[in-house]
Amino acid sequence: MNYELNGKKAMVTGAASGIGLAIAEVFASSGAAVALWDLSDEALSKAKEKITSAYKVPCITVAVDVSDSEAVQAAMDATVNALGGLDIAVNNAGIGGASAKSGDYAIDDWNKVININMNGVFYCQHAAINAMRQQKSGSIINMASILGQVAFASSPAYVAAKHGVVGMTKAAAWEHAEDGIRVNSVGPGFIHTPMVDDSLPQEVLTMLASKHAFGRLGKPEEVAGLVAWLASDAASFVTGAYYPVDGGYLAV
Ligand code: NAP
Repeated sequence: MNYELNGKKAMVTGAASGIGLAIAEVFASSGAAVALWDLSDEALSKAKEKITSAYKVPCITVAVDVSDSEAVQAAMDATVNALGGLDIAVNNAGIGGASAKSGDYAIDDWNKVININMNGVFYCQHAAINAMRQQKSGSIINMASILGQVAFASSPAYVAAKHGVVGMTKAAAWEHAEDGIRVNSVGPGFIHTPMVDDSLPQEVLTMLASKHAFGRLGKPEEVAGLVAWLASDAASFVTGAYYPVDGGYLAV
């Protein structure tokens, strides 16, 4: 599918795996130059190889921990320098975090999830806004979750962080509309990625599948299509929105 992103310059965090990699691939297939941000140089090299062997677009990698605000700003400077600007920012990197009830949740575990899944999105959004505001255009997509709208047992930090992502998206959309920047969030249902498939036993995956109207988990490319549309000029009147892509999970 081509979302007509020809010539646009995009960065994606968490781009070496799962949903982020699928987003980077659909951006490249739609003609955008892409900067892949993730933790591991090795995983980034593999992702870059996958993209550049299939698509003839500029592709760079940036190893960065999104929970380190200074590292994020340095990564943004390097990205803008290498690509020649920034039109699209997808703040997608995240972790599942520990599993425990609120009263039993270790404070270190709470801080880890909040630092990556909420503060990390804010740091990347902050750097992206400042990369885009002078050119008076840009599209920022923040990766929330269905758990940015409803709770899920034993994931209090994840639920709080994703609700925070939805809120910071609405705030930035209003504040930076005057800069020509659109800011939206996306809320996937449960999606087959390493985050889910490698951490949950088969009986839990089967139970989770039954909570989606389609009776299955989603695929990373089914999230990537929505993100690519939000990134494109076709979504020029869309800002401050939260879009579920959840196979009906929230519709019950
Ligand atoms: P994934 O396959 O585990 O990919 C996440 C990527 O982010 C990994 O490459 C990971 O690196 C990287 N990452 C983790 N911490 C980072 C940090 N501090 N700085 C930079 N990169 C970091 O997970 P996914 O399922 O695609 O998840 C992507 C996003 O979608 C997350 O925000 C997640 O919360 C959200 N989401 C996922 C689902 C789902 O069901 N899969 C549903 C709703 C929302 P390492 O592998 O080296 O840790």
